[in-house]
Amino acid sequence: MAGQHSPWFAVPDPTLGADHADTARSPQPPSATNHESGPTASSEHWFDAYLFDLDGTIHLGDRLLPGAVETVARIRDRGIPVRFLSNNPTHSPATIHQRLHHLGLDLRLDEVVNTVLTTTRWLRENRPEAVVFPIAEQPVIEALRAAGQPLSDDPASIDIVLASYDRSFDYRKLQTAFDALWFHRRATLMSTNPDRFCPYPGGRGEPDAASIVAAIEACTQTTCERTFGKPSPLMLDLALHGTGVPASAAVMVGDRLATDIAMARAAGMTGVLVLTGDAGLPEVTTAPEAERPHRVIRALAELLPTA
Ligand SMILES: [Mg+2]
Repeated sequence: MAGQHSPWFAVPDPTLGADHADTARSPQPPSATNHESGPTASSEHWFDAYLFDLDGTIHLGDRLLPGAVETVARIRDRGIPVRFLSNNPTHSPATIHQRLHHLGLDLRLDEVVNTVLTTTRWLRENRPEAVVFPIAEQPVIEALRAAGQPLSDDPASIDIVLASYDRSFDYRKLQTAFDALWFHRRATLMSTNPDRFCPYPGGRGEPDAASIVAAIEACTQTTCERTFGKPSPLMLDLALHGTGVPASAAVMVGDRLATDIAMARAAGMTGVLVLTGDAGLPEVTTAPEAERPHRVIRALAELLPTA
């Protein structure tokens, strides 16, 4: 099916969509230019596997984005594997599956990979004895407990401070992290995901794990040594596992340069940026060439070949 492709960067019209919130509300036709075959509104071929980001790509808040249902259905009709990759650790894969299914998306639980899964799995396989202090919401804590990972809020016994997207983050948690990292000097800092914020409808958002990592780094002068979300290859490996498809024959579709597109780039896979979430056109056009997506689309409906 896919084979080798010639990555191309669709140069968008900078007069359109300067505000990503506007593009999120009213996707418009692309003014893309394929330097090989001229202007185009769709990819030139099918890939062997389709990996989709969720927040800002498949859905925004509590609604599916335009074209999501139809695009996934067309891919399934051809028997091509589909996976959904989310850096959001505030929901378990089961909750994500139920939520999207309820919204009308056709997906299976085993097609959902998120940072609750990657974090728990990495710790279980690499640091099963490590005492973890999770600055995290219940889905992460419950998954770690279920996996048998030792947890503690005693700074003297903490091996790993795990910073996450935690909407109950407070000074007490920061103090515990500080004591474990700076005073006792025994712990290391890791994070579920590196996202600055989670996109919401209307151009709004919520501060994500990067803000909590930054708070801890600022007072301890330590550096977060590992993240379990995109662009980490951990998530890609888990997503492609069992498909038999190499990264080079798959495509990653997402709304964020630093996570979705960076993961694709690092793995030698095609990265398609959709302008319905985080990144806007100015960010894309000013990014270094090595960090740009291979293609930019305004909505998922433009992703697939028209024929
Ligand atoms: Mg996203």
